[in-house]
Amino acid sequence: MTNKSLNFNVIKQLDGTLARTGLIKTPHGDIKTPAFIVGGTQATVKTLTPEQVIQLGGQSVLVNAYHLMLRPSAELLSAAGGIHKFMNFNHPIFSDSGGFQVFSLGMAYKKGIDAISHSTKGDASQAINSKSQLAKVTDEGVHFRSHLDGSKLFMTPENSMEVQHKIAADIHMCFDELTSPLAEREYIKKAMNRTHAWAERCLICHNKLNDEHLALGESSQALYGVVQGAREEDFRKASATFFGQRDFDGYGIGGVFEPEEIPSTVRWVNEILPIDKPRHLLGMGAQPADFFLGVQYGIDTFDCVAPTRQARNGALFTYDGRINIKNSGYAQYFTPIDAECDCYTCKNFTRAYVRHLFMANETLGLTLASIHNERFVVRTVDSIRESIENGSFFEYKKRFLERYYGVDVAQKFLIA
Ligand SMILES: [Zn+2]
Repeated sequence: MTNKSLNFNVIKQLDGTLARTGLIKTPHGDIKTPAFIVGGTQATVKTLTPEQVIQLGGQSVLVNAYHLMLRPSAELLSAAGGIHKFMNFNHPIFSDSGGFQVFSLGMAYKKGIDAISHSTKGDASQAINSKSQLAKVTDEGVHFRSHLDGSKLFMTPENSMEVQHKIAADIHMCFDELTSPLAEREYIKKAMNRTHAWAERCLICHNKLNDEHLALGESSQALYGVVQGAREEDFRKASATFFGQRDFDGYGIGGVFEPEEIPSTVRWVNEILPIDKPRHLLGMGAQPADFFLGVQYGIDTFDCVAPTRQARNGALFTYDGRINIKNSGYAQYFTPIDAECDCYTCKNFTRAYVRHLFMANETLGLTLASIHNERFVVRTVDSIRESIENGSFFEYKKRFLERYYGVDVAQKFLIA
């Protein structure tokens, strides 16, 4: 089968490291890598218009097949002419399979899946072993209940592919089983083997669906395999070997929760994956260390909903660390959130004004805060790309992280 759905070229490899710059080409445009892929879970980047996403430098967004399948439905997206038309974003779009959401449902049904953040994984780990979990995994697929209305659903690798092809993003993820970071080794192995078996089924189904697109004169779509294996070195290496030997367009790396894990987990995987295919670190990008370590250990793209979620809570990035804009100390602070930030918010508004909007529950506050945080992470990854191009990556990493975290805290990311 001819599959021109995705092309990737490494442009510059930083000598003696896994860090590189590159270019991903899709039918909806190119992505210069390393890149931050903006979180667009429900076919929207929360509180922002597509024009605002483009203006802040977003090259691509990632939507979630699980959410869209439940609401408004894959059929509706297909009838609308696909996700690009539906959300009016004529640039590359990734879709996540929903494996993470199904995993989260097992633990956080009542809190809503947004409640599962990296910081609550302790609770999450307990819940996966509890009888109250609402997702049941079998070799065939996953039985779960909708977080919207509690209806019973069954997701298989095949219907994940069918759903994702109807949504029609440029790049899909295989349906995988994510395990709790604290799961038993025995269970991690079982889940990894199931993820591999599901990936084979995803690939067969995906190729069949692409043949149908091509027969209709439509562009084909790309599929990434998703490497799992938790924190177990032998499993990660086995998973990377499995995926590297198969004809995926690129690779997602799932199940990484903290930046401290990257120098081991991500390195094990990227030392094995083929160098000529792109690698996406799923769900990581809540703080600058994620990007510097991810890129250093061979990641090309990142996605994370944390920057906009934090923005909506008033937690804003600055080059000197994160601030909470609701703090009373900013009431008369008539300078930008960050004087060095080039975003629309910082060019036009003060901390005092953004704080006022938060205190008055004005929705513009959410938009201005989201523009700022998204610009901060997009620009951080862009500047990392430039530092690889001009050979200053390690100096830049040290300077950035020491300023952001303070010299002491930054050490743990610098020795890595
Ligand atoms: Zn800004």
